[in-house]
This record gives sequence, C-alpha cells and structure tokens, in this order.
Amino acid sequence: MAVREIIVVGDPRLRQPSQKVQQITPEIRHLIDDMVETMRANDGIGLAAAQVGELHQIVMVELPEDEEIPGSGQLYVVVNPEIVKASRETEEGIEGCLSVPGYVGEVERAEQIVIRGLDARGKKFRLRPRGFLARVFQHEIDHIDGVLYIDRLTAPERIWTVKEGEEEQAELAQEVPEGSAARVAP
Ligand code: ZN
Repeated sequence: MAVREIIVVGDPRLRQPSQKVQQITPEIRHLIDDMVETMRANDGIGLAAAQVGELHQIVMVELPEDEEIPGSGQLYVVVNPEIVKASRETEEGIEGCLSVPGYVGEVERAEQIVIRGLDARGKKFRLRPRGFLARVFQHEIDHIDGVLYIDRLTAPERIWTVKEGEEEQAELAQEVPEGSAARVAP
C-alpha cells in the first residue's frame, strides 16, 4: 500500500467524469488499498478515486466513531456507486474537501439517500445512509461526475477559510470571511 498524492482544484482530472469499473482487477484492489491509506494519512473522512487522479468510479467513507452519528466508525467502500433515491427532506451543512484545501462551505444535501453499488469484492449491495453519512456520500459521489462542493454552495459567499495564514487559492480568491468548520467532509 502507498499514500498517493491528492490532486487539488485547478487539476483538470478533478473535473472529468470517472469511468465505471468493469471488473475488480488486482490493479483496482491495489488502488482501493492505496485510497484507504491516503484517506487515513490525510485525516480524511471520505475519498473518491478522482482525487488521487484515477478516473474510476470508486468512493469510500469512514467517519470517526461517534455514537451520535449513525454509520460512524466503519469503512465503506463503494465501486460504481449510484444514488437511486434521495429524500425530499434536505439539510444544510458545512463541508470541506481534501482537493480544496483551506476552505469549508455550506451545502444543502438530501437528508437520506439510497446507494446501489459494488463492494470491494465486486458484490452488489445497497446502502441507506442518512444524516452526516449521507452528506459525505453525496459529496464523494459528486466527484465521480467532476462536481465539487464549491459548485453547490447555498450562496456564493457561504465559503470560509479554515485557518488564518494559509495560502489563498486563486480559484477562490474572493473575499471570504474567517470561519470555522463544525464538521469537515473531504
Ligand atoms: Zn471532496
């Protein structure tokens, strides 16, 4: 296993759609292992293959154990994930992204979704995440379509820098108020 480099906004690969995985080959297994290691090494709670520059439809989510957050403390790997249902009820919340370092922003997401996909061994399964887990999955699955959370801000000014003194990013070099992250979803 190896920690891969995470690509950041400005890299065109983040904006390209990812391809469906046709077969769980040794290369795909290897990529999944590397992604797990990369996510953990960066204290991430989610990662899409596109973020390490591999345009395959693979996402993973791992929330730190928290008894108030359903589905936390478990690693989820989904190959070819598809959201087949989304609740009409939505929730606004704060997200960040390892590919948009230094910022967090407010995004509205469905409160509950149903995901269909394959596990790391290629077996079909469904997941019904809700709340924060559903939010992180929606964020990661967006990466498959080349969509970033900064495309979905509830309003253009609803984005904040996380730490003072961090280098500004040209793509986001607008006036952003100082803010803090309640919870950050990479
Ligand atoms: Zn992200």
